[in-house]
Amino acid sequence: MPKYDYDLFVIGAGSGGVRAARIAASYGAKVAVAEEYRVGGTCVIRGCVPKKLFVYASHFSEDFEEAAGFGWTVGETSFDWKTLVANKDKEIDRLNGIYIRNLNNAGVEIIQSRAVLKDAHTVHLVAEDRDVTAGKILIAVGAKANVDEKLEGVEHTITSNEAFHLEELPRSIVIAGGGYIAVEFAGIFNGLGVETTLLYRGEQILRGFDEDLRSLLHEEMDKKGIRIITGQVFTKIEKTSSGLKTTLTSGDTLETDAVMFAIGRDPNTEGLGLEAAGVKLGKKGEVIVDEYSRTNIENIYAVGDVTDRANLTPVAIREGHAFADTVFGDKPTKVDHSIIPTAVFSQPEMGTVGLTEADARARGPEIDIYKTAFRAMKSTLSGSQERSFMKLVVDAKTDKVLGVHLMGPASGELIQAIGIAVTMGATKAQFDATIAVHPTAAEELVTLRDKWQPPAQQAAD
Ligand code: NDP
Repeated sequence: MPKYDYDLFVIGAGSGGVRAARIAASYGAKVAVAEEYRVGGTCVIRGCVPKKLFVYASHFSEDFEEAAGFGWTVGETSFDWKTLVANKDKEIDRLNGIYIRNLNNAGVEIIQSRAVLKDAHTVHLVAEDRDVTAGKILIAVGAKANVDEKLEGVEHTITSNEAFHLEELPRSIVIAGGGYIAVEFAGIFNGLGVETTLLYRGEQILRGFDEDLRSLLHEEMDKKGIRIITGQVFTKIEKTSSGLKTTLTSGDTLETDAVMFAIGRDPNTEGLGLEAAGVKLGKKGEVIVDEYSRTNIENIYAVGDVTDRANLTPVAIREGHAFADTVFGDKPTKVDHSIIPTAVFSQPEMGTVGLTEADARARGPEIDIYKTAFRAMKSTLSGSQERSFMKLVVDAKTDKVLGVHLMGPASGELIQAIGIAVTMGATKAQFDATIAVHPTAAEELVTLRDKWQPPAQQAAD
């Protein structure tokens, strides 16, 4: 008789958990995965996927306007929020079905329940009120959206979770935050015709991104009609007869239909029984793991956002796969978190990989910067004033490209391909030796000849 009910018990059927479960099962392990909400996790159910569908939807307003320069007359247009939500839900149901099928086909048992640890090998299934045991346990419960709990009137606010299911499209919205979700949703709502305000506590949105991208995106969002208020947070939110009245630290008030918090996400570890199992947590409640995703408890592992390493779906998938290879495939595998290409589906879109200029300079090597800002070819006829931007951060001594930062159409697609070159350690000379594809915006990346010089130096030359 086996010592445990399962070889592996995974808590959380999101990107990381599902990948780990499937790969472990493919190595012959007996695997179960518990999920309290819907199989697929945040990214598929109420994150990256529906968000991108909303981004597509919101861009049509600009596309209709720009068509005129190409000779098109677009008749009267109108937008129906309920149709978008229903069609999005249909697609999410389809993907949810695929995830369930893939787990079934791999022989993984899906248990629809919240799971709580009782000790290092025992999991309590809340919905079924029973315990199961496992040799190895993987925590893959992701993160949950933060709100300012102490704010008076916080009960009137929403997060991205609710934004995907609003009954009606609001006429106006104030979004708090200046990170990925805040700028992406600001673009979505603005494109759908909602009067949109972004309220950010710092001086410049998108902390951690290259400074040029931060300021250029801010300007482009401004140009599209998004009001960005910096250096402010809410002090109070009140319900009025017509909507909500928000008060800011400056004392100013804003009347709006909806308020959305996008102020980060914290690891979803509360009430998970990790203390009972002796698992060490960090300050934000994240599960502390080593480079093989193992916690301080020998048989308990964790992957994805719950570990607060790099909170991105493809990273969670990679961590889940590496865990299964290491523990069940006899192939010890670490995940390299040093170079991670990423896209922000803001409008315009951004793509970035490697070091920012500031990070590269802080690390010491002498840096060469190559950059260009331009209007995309399509804008010549469409009349769009939107600018695109490309920047290479190069180690002056080794000629290695340390970072690439892009803003403009399809930057997310582009950065995936450029990420290969940067991960391989390509040099600027190798970029230059690559023949351009014409006419594209991307050809700028291989035709940037002149080093950028700070204005003071330009004047002195
Ligand atoms: P981010 O960590 O990207 O940004 C959080 C923002 O909220 C920051 O601007 C931060 O300001 C601000 N903030 C934090 N705390 C407070 C507070 N108490 N009051 C006011 N403002 C505050 O989180 P998001 O919620 O935007 O996204 C969550 C995660 O989801 C991200 O880590 C990201 O990795 C992932 N994601 C990825 C996407 C993609 O790959 N395209 C898309 C969407 C999400 P400050 O800068 O001053 O700290």
